[in-house]
Amino acid sequence: GGAAPVVGRFAPTPSGRMHLGNVYASLIAWLSARSAGGRVVLRVEDLDPRTQSGPWTDLLLDDLRWLGLAWDGDPVYQHDRLELYRDAARELDATGLTYPCFCTRAELHAASAPHASDGTPVYAGTCRDLSPEEIAARSRVRPPALRLRVPGAADPAGTITFTDRVYGPQRQVLACECGDFLVQRSDGVFAYQLAVVVDDAEMGVTEIVRGCDLLPSTPRQIYLQRLLGLPQPAYAHVPLLLAPDGRRLAKRDHDLDMGELRARFDSAAALLGWLAGLTGLAPDTTPRTADELAASFSWDAVRAHRENRPVSAETL
Ligand code: GLU
Repeated sequence: GGAAPVVGRFAPTPSGRMHLGNVYASLIAWLSARSAGGRVVLRVEDLDPRTQSGPWTDLLLDDLRWLGLAWDGDPVYQHDRLELYRDAARELDATGLTYPCFCTRAELHAASAPHASDGTPVYAGTCRDLSPEEIAARSRVRPPALRLRVPGAADPAGTITFTDRVYGPQRQVLACECGDFLVQRSDGVFAYQLAVVVDDAEMGVTEIVRGCDLLPSTPRQIYLQRLLGLPQPAYAHVPLLLAPDGRRLAKRDHDLDMGELRARFDSAAALLGWLAGLTGLAPDTTPRTADELAASFSWDAVRAHRENRPVSAETL
């Protein structure tokens, strides 16, 4: 025995109503932890004050409760935790690996670097080696963002490998596929990458289950864990559910959001059973509660159906 207790998490961004893809990822996160006798913690990712999170947060918690995806303890809100992120940014700064970046959005996109695996441009290094005088002069014009230097392509420390529970062995050369990345924006808002790493460690999370759109972010998060001396959780990315035309489901796709789904299905078991049948978690679409699904959960079922799949309201 002696294995550490499993702690999974929900980490929703309250920028809209949950959609079917969010339901699927949340369900797998919950099933994985619960079927291992573990806990699930909830963190509301309301880091960005520009997002009108207020109205969405209540609906989000209500939708999770309706689904029967209970979490343990009180929800944690990122907006309450800025001090933790500030400390981590200071700790990174002390390594000498961060530097102020004055590039505007337009300058970043004009820089002719290849695009990273997640579609953002690889940072061209424009502000990497500014002199203290240049930094002082530019700081008088506009506040800088804070960027983290990644090791050169030939440095083994900059090649991150890990094994995803669903997608298997992964490898990313940070310098080529990501480049120096932001830990704090020029308006002071901490980057998602930094906050998520600090929070998951502070909340004792041992496994991260989330949509495979975040697979390319994981090496950046592992790099941050190493610099900050934080433990590395297990990673499992789950397939995305797509709109019928192949686009990613977005929070604006109202026909598959929780408002619509709760109106169409009599119960959470009806919705979860249908979703389980559709995604191969169960042999058919018989209504099943989250607890019933936990009793038969296996990662093999997720692995066997790991292509992103279109779903449509017409098939409900
Ligand atoms: N807050 C992110 C989202 O809702 C998820 C972050 C994560 O799971 O690491 O897309």
